[in-house]
Amino acid sequence: MTDMITIALTKGRILKETLPLFADAGIEPLEDMEKSRKLIFPTSRDDVRFLLLRGVDVPTYVRYGAADMGVSGKDMLLEEGGTELYEPLDLQIAKCRLMTAGIPDQPVTAGRVRVATKFVNVAKDFYARQGVQVDVIKLYGAMELAPIMGLCDRIVDIVDTGNTLKANGLVPMEHIADVSSRLVVNKASLKMKHQKIEALISSLAAAVDARN
Ligand code: AMP
Repeated sequence: MTDMITIALTKGRILKETLPLFADAGIEPLEDMEKSRKLIFPTSRDDVRFLLLRGVDVPTYVRYGAADMGVSGKDMLLEEGGTELYEPLDLQIAKCRLMTAGIPDQPVTAGRVRVATKFVNVAKDFYARQGVQVDVIKLYGAMELAPIMGLCDRIVDIVDTGNTLKANGLVPMEHIADVSSRLVVNKASLKMKHQKIEALISSLAAAVDARN
């Protein structure tokens, strides 16, 4: 169906904060997305369906038009090159920061700084802007372990309360970017399904405003 709107959502903690906003905009999944093993969910509107993806894949689905819209953390958009996407709305949920962190009082000594992160592009950009030469080491999880085990000098990671860093003997150092979840839209979808998508953006914007 060509006028179906497909919306890619991110699993996990972001989903918990996203669904109430869509509910306020009149769109609810017909079953519990957190309990189901399905990946495609019909909603209370028969012209809208949700996809449930890993956050890192949301910009890709929207970029290729496999989803018309998506909800993605700004961290993922910075990392995955969200520039090709239209980003009409800050949903002001799942707020956190991208930061560098390391072992306190441990200055980087000779040579290039070794930076471990899953945000390889963000890290490269940030240090390049600082004029600092780095070797970036890609990790997929438990970034906090890397400096302790001597794998790197610094990590680039998401910080919310800072408790995870602290529990591992690390401190946040430089602020790279504020992060929150954004609504992203495929540019061709926006042209072809303009009225429906604009109406959806407006009702979500109203839901965000009502909360803040
Ligand atoms: P905290 O201990 O509160 O600083 O939380 C840090 C960890 O929680 C990070 O390593 C992230 O994996 C995760 N986290 C916190 N907030 C978010 C968010 N808004 N989006 C994605 N991951 C998050």
